Amino acid sequence: MKKELAYAFALDASDPLASYRQEFIIPEKDGQHQVYFLGNSLGLQPKKTAYFLNEVLDQWARYGVEGFFMGEDPWLNYHDHLVKPLAAIVGALPSELVVMNQLTVNLHLMMVSFYRPAGKRKKIICEAKAFPSDQYMFETHLKALGYNPDEVLVEVGPRAGEACIRQQDIVAAIHETGDELALVLWGGVNYYTGQVFDLEAITTAGHNAGAKVGFDLAHAAGNIPLNLHAWNVDFACWCSYKYLNSGPGAIGAAFIHERYHREDALYRFAGWWGYEKETRFKMEKGFRPVQSAEGWQLSTPSPLLYAAHRASLEIFSRAGFENCVKKSRQMAAYLRYLLEDLQQDQPGKFELLTPSDPAQRGCQVSLLIHTGGRALFEQLTEQGIFADWREPDVIRVAPVPLYNRYQEIWHFVQELGR
Ligand SMILES: *Cc1c(COP(=O)(O)O)cnc(C)c1O
Repeated sequence: MKKELAYAFALDASDPLASYRQEFIIPEKDGQHQVYFLGNSLGLQPKKTAYFLNEVLDQWARYGVEGFFMGEDPWLNYHDHLVKPLAAIVGALPSELVVMNQLTVNLHLMMVSFYRPAGKRKKIICEAKAFPSDQYMFETHLKALGYNPDEVLVEVGPRAGEACIRQQDIVAAIHETGDELALVLWGGVNYYTGQVFDLEAITTAGHNAGAKVGFDLAHAAGNIPLNLHAWNVDFACWCSYKYLNSGPGAIGAAFIHERYHREDALYRFAGWWGYEKETRFKMEKGFRPVQSAEGWQLSTPSPLLYAAHRASLEIFSRAGFENCVKKSRQMAAYLRYLLEDLQQDQPGKFELLTPSDPAQRGCQVSLLIHTGGRALFEQLTEQGIFADWREPDVIRVAPVPLYNRYQEIWHFVQELGR
């Protein structure tokens, strides 16, 4: 019987990724592993993170500044360890990736290069109620350019009475804005509802309107399959502390399609770490960028942050991202099945905000709780289940393929029902 705990045990027993759970540190309470469904907020720590961090500390201790050039992994080339595994996760060429800064900073930097308003073509299409940091980025960036954000931003939101944004409404807004549209900057997965967007269709529609198209992939990178290069996306940015398990305040990354790497006319805010590698240390006047996404790098990166990122990417490489996606889809379907069953048993208690179509959802499921949501959330916490509470009435959970188990999903739904 699919509803029984035994069924969850059977799924775990036949899960080809089951052993990867042992590579993570699972939080405990009273000697018991807790159910951690917050991989969408801060991914758990790989056991090998400490090893890779210590390697950098040792190298610093042994060689001082020469650590950039000496030791097992000279810091000058450390970036190469990151872009190959990351390319497999986001569907890019390694040369199209730069691991640097953090998400909001990178969004500002990409705006410098890809938001080039000209004449009446100055509008930006974005999600209504985008994550606050993205909203503040737009507001302040546009003001710095002398624009009134209200006259530039075209926010597309859900229809009245609906939680998710219809894909056709996004495309229609792009068509309507037409030759006034300079940029579409959209999210890959909505942080509140867990809705996954059709990024390829948005890219094509934006390009057909003569605009540039970029994505904020904070909740998409390491969660859903992406094919940024083939989809012809102009740029994208993400953080690596959510599904990418690289630690609190981890280093972010950006994708810049290779067709821009040699385009001298693009504006950018530069620094010495984006300068041509062969001649960087001659320290000459006049900026000459690396002819890859690394040409957008500004500052000396921290090998400590690189090391934490590497520990996680290395696990994704061994597990194979396509296998992670497969398990994530199975987990999402199983969670959905149990939740819909619970809805039948106890009608009218909660709604699922996340779309049911597998193409429109990733790991996360958002539940709108009709009454007593806050108390329910506290009860779950009490029972050792880490979920996420969003005012006024939403509980978000995200079972992830690398360290969560089907039996945890069963326990969560059991507890919810109780
Ligand atoms: C998590 C998240 C952020 C956070 O930005 P940081 O600069 O990494 O603090 C921004 N935007 C979205 C959509 C997010 O989900």
